[in-house]
Amino acid sequence: MRCAEPVEADRNLFILDTRMLEIQRYGALYILKTPKPAIIETGFSHTLEETRAALDELKIRPDDVAYLLPTHVHMDHAGGAGFLAEAFPSAKVICHHLGTPHLINPSKLVPSVQRAVGVLFSHYGTMKPVAEERVISVKGGECFELGDGYVLEAIDAPGHAPHHACFYERKTKGLFTGDAVGIYRPEATGFTMTTPPPAFHYEDSLSTLQRLRHMELRWLYFTHYGAFAQPYKLIDEYEAELSKWVEAIIEKTRELSDPQAIKEYFVQLESQALGEFYEPVILRQEVEMNVQGVLLYLRKHRSS
Ligand SMILES: [Zn+2]
Repeated sequence: MRCAEPVEADRNLFILDTRMLEIQRYGALYILKTPKPAIIETGFSHTLEETRAALDELKIRPDDVAYLLPTHVHMDHAGGAGFLAEAFPSAKVICHHLGTPHLINPSKLVPSVQRAVGVLFSHYGTMKPVAEERVISVKGGECFELGDGYVLEAIDAPGHAPHHACFYERKTKGLFTGDAVGIYRPEATGFTMTTPPPAFHYEDSLSTLQRLRHMELRWLYFTHYGAFAQPYKLIDEYEAELSKWVEAIIEKTRELSDPQAIKEYFVQLESQALGEFYEPVILRQEVEMNVQGVLLYLRKHRSS
C-alpha cells in the first residue's frame, strides 16, 4: 500500500498519489494533519481504500476527519466524495454551490462524464450521493478553521467549470488549484490543458487567473500534480499556454470545418510533444476532450 508523502511547503501537509489513470504523479489528494483534519480532493470512488490507509499511517482517526473539499464535481475530483463521506462520518463536505446538486444526486453527472471521457470511463469508478445535511455549499469567501492557525478559504474560480472552487490555506499561503491552473507536470513538458466540455469558459478562466494573481501566494498545490513555489510565474505561464491553445483551435476552425478533423490535427500535434509520457489511448482521449471543450465554448459564446 502506498503512503501519503510529506509536502515541502509544510510539515502537516501530505500528498497522496492516487495513480490516476494508472499514471504516477498525475492525480492527488492532499491531507492536512491539523487538529481538525481536512482532505482536499476526493479522487475516484476507488481511492477510498488508499485514503483510509494513508490516514491510518498518519494516525488520523476516521472519526476525526472534519472536512472533505473537492474543488469541483468532475469525477476525478469528487467521484470519491460520497464514499469518503460514508467512511469519515463526522466530515462535512465543502462544495461550490453550483456543484452541490450533483454531489447530492450524481445521477445526471455520471452519464455526462461517461460521454465526455469515452473509453477512459472504466478508470472513473462510480459515485454515491452525499447526504444533503453533510454538505456546506460555498460561493467564495467562506473560511474553515482547522486549528493551529490553519484556515482554508473558499475561492470562487470558474472557467474550467462553473462549479469550480480553489481553496486557499492561509498559514502556508498555498492555493489548492484543482483544475483552475491546468495540469502541471515538469516531468512531462510542463503544462497541459484542462478545457473539457460541457462548460469550459475561456474568459472566466482568464479572470480567475487574474484574481488568483492578486492573492498573497507562496505555493500552488496542483491536483495534477504536486506543490510548487513561484506561484505567480506558474500562473503567468499557464495563462500564456491556455491562450495559445485556444487561439490555435480558433485558427484551425477557420481552416477545417469538420470537428473530428480539428481534433485529429491536435491529437497528432500533441502526440509529437507528449507521446512519450502518455499511453496513446489516454493522450487521444484527453486531447479530443480538451479540443471539444473549446469548440463547444466557441459555439456557445463566440458564434457570429
Ligand atoms: Zn475538472
